[in-house]
Amino acid sequence: MSPSAFSKLNISPAQLKSLEALGYKAMTPVQEQSIPLILKGRDLVVRAKTGSGKTATFGIGLLNKINPRFFGAQALVLCPTRELADQVGAEIRRLASQMPNIKVVMLCGGKPFGAQRDSLQHGAHVVVGTPGRIHDHLTKGTLQIDQVSTLVLDEADRMLDMGFADTMQAIIAEVPKNRQTLLFSATYPDNIQKISRSIQANPAMVQVDDDV
Ligand code: ADP
Ligand code: MG
Repeated sequence: MSPSAFSKLNISPAQLKSLEALGYKAMTPVQEQSIPLILKGRDLVVRAKTGSGKTATFGIGLLNKINPRFFGAQALVLCPTRELADQVGAEIRRLASQMPNIKVVMLCGGKPFGAQRDSLQHGAHVVVGTPGRIHDHLTKGTLQIDQVSTLVLDEADRMLDMGFADTMQAIIAEVPKNRQTLLFSATYPDNIQKISRSIQANPAMVQVDDDV
């Protein structure tokens, strides 16, 4: 077994089968450094460049905590744009392809609200979306996030650059405090450090250098 094989992780056989179906054979450096910490329940700040495999890093982490018998949102992933939310949601579905009954719902602006409300009513284990539309669903009572145990901020620096700071904070305030919080960012400026301090508990820091 290669040292970076997914099979050395403490994840379910169905998760391993999904990774096999995707053709993922070995962990990328960011996955190798982050996933074991995530599986231990740690909060994490991850800095790594585009294309390093961050989606599977948090996807595998959050999927392995889902209880499929409970049909409420247990993981919430915030993304800066619709395109990214769609990509992330599609990747999490692929990561769960051999795990029975895990439902992933995407909530982005520019799509009909009613259809999103209906899919939420049928039960969603994982919710992926943009801050504006997720906040709309919270305000209208069509989404409950009081059972979320994993919160992911993907491309957090871009979300702040796009002016989502207040909306993000309003959403995060409704997620239970004893959650696991995973923050992904290409850069680590002051405003990200500040948000990390306000929403995370003793996060582990993972940085994968550009030339790795
Ligand atoms: P990032 O979010 O870091 O920019 P992505 O999560 O979008 O990167 O992943 C980039 C590409 O790498 C995607 O096409 C994804 O399917 C692929 N990928 C991720 N992890 C692995 C892996 N362990 N083995 C092979 N391909 C992978
Ligand atoms: Mg990404």
